[in-house]
Amino acid sequence: MSESENSSSSASTAGESTAFGDLGIDSRVLKALDDVGYETPSPIQAATIPPLMDGRDVVGLAQTGTGKTAAFALPVLTRLDTSARKPQALVLAPTRELALQVAEAFGSYSTYMPEVKVLPIYGGQSYGIQLSGLRRGAQVIVGTPGRVIDHLDKGTLDLSQLEFLVLDEADEMLTMGFAEDVERILADTPDEKQVALFSATMPAAIGRLARKYLNNPQEVTVKNKTATAQNITQKYLQVSHQRKLDALTRVLEVEQFDGMIIFVRTKSATEELAEKLRARGLSAMAINGDMVQAQRERTINQLKDGSLDILVATDVAARGLDVDRISHVVNYDIPHDVESYVHRIGRTGRAGRSGTALLFVSPRERHLLRSIERHTRQDLEEIDLPSVDDVNAQRVAKFADSITSNLGSDNLDLFRGLVENYARENDVAMADIAAALALETRDRARSRAMRSTPRHSVPTSAEAS
Ligand code: AMP
Repeated sequence: MSESENSSSSASTAGESTAFGDLGIDSRVLKALDDVGYETPSPIQAATIPPLMDGRDVVGLAQTGTGKTAAFALPVLTRLDTSARKPQALVLAPTRELALQVAEAFGSYSTYMPEVKVLPIYGGQSYGIQLSGLRRGAQVIVGTPGRVIDHLDKGTLDLSQLEFLVLDEADEMLTMGFAEDVERILADTPDEKQVALFSATMPAAIGRLARKYLNNPQEVTVKNKTATAQNITQKYLQVSHQRKLDALTRVLEVEQFDGMIIFVRTKSATEELAEKLRARGLSAMAINGDMVQAQRERTINQLKDGSLDILVATDVAARGLDVDRISHVVNYDIPHDVESYVHRIGRTGRAGRSGTALLFVSPRERHLLRSIERHTRQDLEEIDLPSVDDVNAQRVAKFADSITSNLGSDNLDLFRGLVENYARENDVAMADIAAALALETRDRARSRAMRSTPRHSVPTSAEAS
């Protein structure tokens, strides 16, 4: 392919009005997206899917966590000729982990396209499995450059029918020493193929590669707005994906909060997390784009009137939400872009109050944290996972507080008489009776939280009375 200097550059913003249904994506893929719970395209998806659907080459500045995998996988799946079995799409990824992750993503987006076969090929796995996979035929190959070259050299991978080539994390591939392999694959595959290059950064070497091998690519970068409110304290907690629920539970135990919104990425995650929190005795409900307006409003009213404390939401469901008593926002799943982050944390610190925003960051997502700090021009303060001792100390303090406040109640005399009688008749120490009552209070609170919220149709306290 000839050198092309005139690559067009179009900086795209979030594309808030775009829906997956407007992008020309195959209806079976749309159905799978609904299953995985994506509500709207992320900014990089809104910006890159249309040119990819039009057959254009694309250079996308995007990092892990922005939704870039679906940005190329959805157009590829839509445009595949599923009746053919030879490889039509090749995704090159720097590591075995990423290759597997991308192959899995293709698998889940093509759930309703059983004729689509996706094969990961990477170094470290035996050739046997890969050879039999290649013999059976796969339209989509996701591989690390070294192993792809090995198969090309052995003649076991035929890329003569290749139509789509994706370079995922191109800068990483070069850093890892795959420059030559990548260039060979670009040069030795059919000229007419469509190429999408995704990279977190744009070092000169990537620019050169794009100019040499891509045909008038559309360049996509996602612009971010800045400006976060000064009355919001922003913190982050480093935590692996597996430990997030435990971390959240501990944070909820030690933080003094009034109302809270917890943000997750998908509709299904709102339901799952709300249910898990309820099982832990917390008053939590989900809101997401699947709920009818009346249901959503009812839940938000509960949050407003204090009969509900925790809302688990997606970005779309929480858009424009304005509830004064939200003292905390927790970004349980890190947002795809800085704009969403700014919008999310803006749900707290309303009406001149102060607010706290807490972000969960896994080690792989640290670059997203850096990007948030850069664009909002604010450093987030790192906090440690509250220890079991912190949690216990907080429980004891809460328990002591509730005793102190109940000691001031007018109804104490009636119960004092009952308790004194019980102690006399049964010859039991007062401390034992107090402990037994405390136990009952705790168990009741737990079962109330479990009972009170069947999915998203809970009567408000007004309706119930
Ligand atoms: P990626 O940047 O491709 O590694 O994607 C990061 C995460 O975002 C993955 O867990 C995806 O499942 C998820 N994701 C991708 N696109 C969307 C979307 N439009 N809505 C919600 N989650 C998404």
